[in-house]
Amino acid sequence: MSKGEDIFKKIIAHAKEYGFIFQSSEIYDGLSAVYDYGQNGSALKNNIKEYWWKSMVQFHENIVGIDSAIFMHPTVWKASGHVDAFNDPLIDNKDSQKRYRADVLIEDHMAKLEEKINKEISKAAKKFGEDFDEKMFRQTNPRVQANQEKIDNIRSRFVKDMENEDLQDVKALIEELGIACPISGSKNWTEVRQFNLMFSTQMGSLSEGANQIYLRPETAQGIFVNYLNVQKTGRMKLPFGIAQIGKAFRNEIVARQFIFRMREFEQMEMQFFVRPGQEKEWYEYWKDERVKWHKALGIPDELFRLHDHDKLAHYAKDAADIEFLFPFGFKELEGIHSRTDFDLGAHQEFSGKKLQYFDPETNESYVPYVVETSIGLDRMFLAILSNAYKEETLEDGSQRVVLNIPPMLAPVKAAVLPLTKKDGLPEKAREVMDTLKYDFMCRYEEKDAIGRRYRRQDAIGTPYCITIDHQTLQDNTVTIRERDSMKQERISINDVKQVVLERISYHKKQ
Ligand code: ATP
Repeated sequence: MSKGEDIFKKIIAHAKEYGFIFQSSEIYDGLSAVYDYGQNGSALKNNIKEYWWKSMVQFHENIVGIDSAIFMHPTVWKASGHVDAFNDPLIDNKDSQKRYRADVLIEDHMAKLEEKINKEISKAAKKFGEDFDEKMFRQTNPRVQANQEKIDNIRSRFVKDMENEDLQDVKALIEELGIACPISGSKNWTEVRQFNLMFSTQMGSLSEGANQIYLRPETAQGIFVNYLNVQKTGRMKLPFGIAQIGKAFRNEIVARQFIFRMREFEQMEMQFFVRPGQEKEWYEYWKDERVKWHKALGIPDELFRLHDHDKLAHYAKDAADIEFLFPFGFKELEGIHSRTDFDLGAHQEFSGKKLQYFDPETNESYVPYVVETSIGLDRMFLAILSNAYKEETLEDGSQRVVLNIPPMLAPVKAAVLPLTKKDGLPEKAREVMDTLKYDFMCRYEEKDAIGRRYRRQDAIGTPYCITIDHQTLQDNTVTIRERDSMKQERISINDVKQVVLERISYHKKQ
């Protein structure tokens, strides 16, 4: 097992043991790629939502939020292109009976070649030390060049195949590359075929004339169909944005990576409506803004990278992914897409209703262009959790598992702990709880030795532990212990609220 896989397993186990994430319907052996958030998980998830919502809606005067329904008129998905084009190329291995996404098999193969290149580079960097010129090395080393050429050829052939819907050649490519099923090792593949990812259901009883409807595969369309409602009732002027957080559903072919790829998940999307011709500028702006948003959480820069798409979705003009280094490698966390007037134009055509904006500056009416930022809430959760999980050996040789969750996102901000269960300490601790609980999430705990209670709080990422001891009864001071440094300080009870509030505030982060 690789180190990443090993850590990933530990993170999944930790998430369950400490009430973050449970398999859905676990007592019935679970439902594949569907998960439930527990007591700490739902709190962390809500905090991530709030961080996103505040950064988008509260801190931008020209962005407003909505909450549209999951069910929509079926023609919405015809207009958006999802009925015809929201497909993944699917391939089965005949021996293992396992199903794969053909594009993912090919991408994984390219990632292996990329790894070979990176190994050559780090070997050479070690050998040449400070004199090492990576750019030059990439251009001149024959092994690196050969692998890079292979990657480029595979990519361009695959992109062409997908554009031409040449699924036979995708299969041929998989065979030529000698890609084997990771489970059986066999190269015995079926044909590649397209698989639509939308879930459908029926609305109304059959006698009333059933209508096939879909569970939305993205939240964006709820924004597009409400664009004029919001623009008119909010008296919005271009450029302006509409934000939304909500559930989305995709019948993913391969869903084996915990909450990274789920069949029911949550998206946080923002559609930014701009004057045609200004989309490039805004696309660059939002790429930059969104990267800043991630980095403001104090997660190391090297865990993020920006990846421009080669194979564009059916609606996109420009698209880039913000990728995060998950325990299983760099993968998409958020997408920034320049969607042109594709969606509004299509809805105008299919609905027969005008979706134009009258621009008072130019005296013209037009269908605005759209730049979208789209992030998976569950993927953001996994990014935070996997970055936060640390196993530490302390000075006295003991071990602790700590979640270094950014304090403003932590499920519990402060634990209030009476040192013992007697001598009036619990009563005093309850008084402290009462002064804090209206402002942030606190947890009261009096069971077990104080050291064990600290460990439990570390394991769920609580930034502060406030301990009430005998001295508290005398001089009204408590100890406040900081999660990461484990340093303890004695401060007045009257200052506790302020100290915690300052650390968890959004203010510093923006
Ligand atoms: P992928 O290539 O990983 O399937 P995508 O390009 O289809 O993702 P988008 O359609 O751009 O994803 O969706 C926007 C965001 O929604 C993604 O960046 C991701 O964070 C999230 N997302 C998409 N599909 C899933 C899923 N099945 N489970 C969890 N999050 C998802």
